[in-house]
Amino acid sequence: MGLLVVGSLGLDTVYTPFDKVEDALGGSATYISLAASYFSGPIQMVGVIGTDFPKQYIDILANHNIDTEGLQTIQGGKTFRWGGKYHYDLNVRDTLFTELNVFKNFDPIIPDKFKKSKYVCLGNIDPTLQLKVLDQLTDPQLIVCDTMNYWIEGKKDDLLQLLEQVHVLVINDSEARLLADEPNLIKASKIITDMGPQSLIIKKGEHGAMLFTSGTIFSAPAYPMEMIFDPTGAGDSFAGGFTGYLFKTRDLSPNNLKCAVIYGSTLASFCVEKFSTKGLEDLSYLKIQDRYREFLNLSRIDDTE
Ligand code: AMP
Repeated sequence: MGLLVVGSLGLDTVYTPFDKVEDALGGSATYISLAASYFSGPIQMVGVIGTDFPKQYIDILANHNIDTEGLQTIQGGKTFRWGGKYHYDLNVRDTLFTELNVFKNFDPIIPDKFKKSKYVCLGNIDPTLQLKVLDQLTDPQLIVCDTMNYWIEGKKDDLLQLLEQVHVLVINDSEARLLADEPNLIKASKIITDMGPQSLIIKKGEHGAMLFTSGTIFSAPAYPMEMIFDPTGAGDSFAGGFTGYLFKTRDLSPNNLKCAVIYGSTLASFCVEKFSTKGLEDLSYLKIQDRYREFLNLSRIDDTE
């Protein structure tokens, strides 16, 4: 069985202080799948596009061993579009527009051959749709889920229902505060894990990520980067690297979850080095492992006591 990835596929318009790009390949499922593809295949993608989705973007996915049988193409429909503008401080992003288009009426039908998937990554889409996906699966063992402010504010009831079934929730610090209605992240983590997820990852952008699991806290550093061109998709690449590594190793022990957090951070660091999905297109497992080791060395000390 493959790794099931459900989420958005879109055409992104992105402005950063360095450059701009229009109708670039984007979407949560796209970044997750590309990042996960370096670990183990196949990646089984479920999403929706319109007939305006360029053929060369499908080719990029296919070249990464991503099975697109679960991709619905709506004849005459317009693909999801998102626009964002980054400030000089790249942590600050304004959403310029969100056009749901074919996502408005999306019914995520999971092809029969994907229904027995054991490893699932639910990218950021409407939690009502994420719930519909889980309803069709026979026996998932690991459900990793991402969401965002848009849904925490707009679809809280469905999100809470979903969280009861999720094993690992991956969100950023502002989303964690919003979801828990609590400014302190440690207190927020307890409130959120009480909602259902056994493990919680809180991403803190250039300050790394925290994993809360089995009553322990693990703090991972961020990779010190001189070149950040486009932060779009960093969170999704994290989720893809994290889930992809767990899918490859089939080991859900707390220690392996920590390794997966570092692999997630590694993929996010590659993602932001280039515009759109370019930073994820030409990697190799060897390159990823080299950076993973650099990550480990960032916080390794020789204890002289
Ligand atoms: P990230 O930078 O990790 O937050 O992810 C950015 C990606 O998420 C972009 O490629 C967008 O196409 C996609 N995206 C933005 N807003 C939404 C939304 N409301 N639902 C689904 N996907 C979205």
